[in-house]
Amino acid sequence: MKYPALKINLKKLHSNVETIVKLCKEKNISVAAVTKAFCGNPQIAKVFVDGGVDYLADSRIENLKKYANFNIHKILLRIPMISQATDVVTYSDISLNSEVSTIKELSKAALLLKKIHKVIIMIDLGDLREGILPIHIEDFVKKIVTLEGIKLVGIGVNLNCYGGVIPTYSTLKNLVNIGKKLETTFNLNLDIISGGNSGSLNLLLEDNIPTGLNNLRIGEGILLGVETSFQNLIPDTYNDVFTFCAEIIELKDKPSVPIGTIGLNAFGKQPIFEDKGIMTRGILACGIQDISLEQITPKDTSIELIGASSDHMIVDLTKTNIKYKVGDILEFNVSYGSILSASTSEYVQIEFY
Ligand SMILES: *Cc1c(COP(=O)(O)O)cnc(C)c1O
Repeated sequence: MKYPALKINLKKLHSNVETIVKLCKEKNISVAAVTKAFCGNPQIAKVFVDGGVDYLADSRIENLKKYANFNIHKILLRIPMISQATDVVTYSDISLNSEVSTIKELSKAALLLKKIHKVIIMIDLGDLREGILPIHIEDFVKKIVTLEGIKLVGIGVNLNCYGGVIPTYSTLKNLVNIGKKLETTFNLNLDIISGGNSGSLNLLLEDNIPTGLNNLRIGEGILLGVETSFQNLIPDTYNDVFTFCAEIIELKDKPSVPIGTIGLNAFGKQPIFEDKGIMTRGILACGIQDISLEQITPKDTSIELIGASSDHMIVDLTKTNIKYKVGDILEFNVSYGSILSASTSEYVQIEFY
């Protein structure tokens, strides 16, 4: 095996997919499985499809492009770029939108490609990332309902992201009500009322989702078995589907404080050190070019991760009882952000088991 590596247990992942799909289906909620954290790896996406999700969703059209052979609807999560309008209509069936000018370009592209492109309008209910403020929604819909090649199929909200706003029953009820109002005002049928991401799983676990809300877009909840509002574990899911592995290339007893006048480190910052005497220090052949450092923890909990530069990671092995040697592999638990960074690095080997 090559290192550094991101190991992925496909059996556990499949089980997580089935558990979350079942949890949602019981409440008549469809699942848009979000694939952005692993850069749209088709082998992982296939596990989602086999596990019974209703849509594959990603922020990048480049990732959705890889799913051309999957017989499932694809959703573009990030508000489309006008410059990509043709690709958006070609490779996604539905896109999330918040700009009239962009939807007009999607309409033109759809006419040229002789397709009907479906849109979900995002409504900003306080998180202050994407979306139209509720007071502007009717004006907005008026401008897009008559566009050819475009079908308005739903509305959605995103929370827990930029502003970290926690979804509540009343926020989601507000979304459902906005949908009902639009249906009567414009005499249309909205198939999708999409109530957020893995943060909304918390309300599902509490059985506190308003009727009428019928879709969630879930990434982290499936991959790590957690809801993200409070980091509660989801019952009957695995939290260790992903493991990051790196090889020890140097192992020596050295002081804990650098010797000499301390200036700036490799990243232009002045580091501060606590004197812990002589420690057993290991260097791993990986660095922040491979994985985001703050979000990984050694599986051997007596090992401490003390720092990293672009391609070297330093660990303190003083307290561990295991006799590690050069060439051994250390394993780490990962977070959503570190799955993303490791998947993005071309140096990290993806291994399925
Ligand atoms: C990333 C993203 C999601 C999924 O978020 P998770 O926390 O991984 O569940 C849902 N919707 C949008 C718009 C996103 O960008």
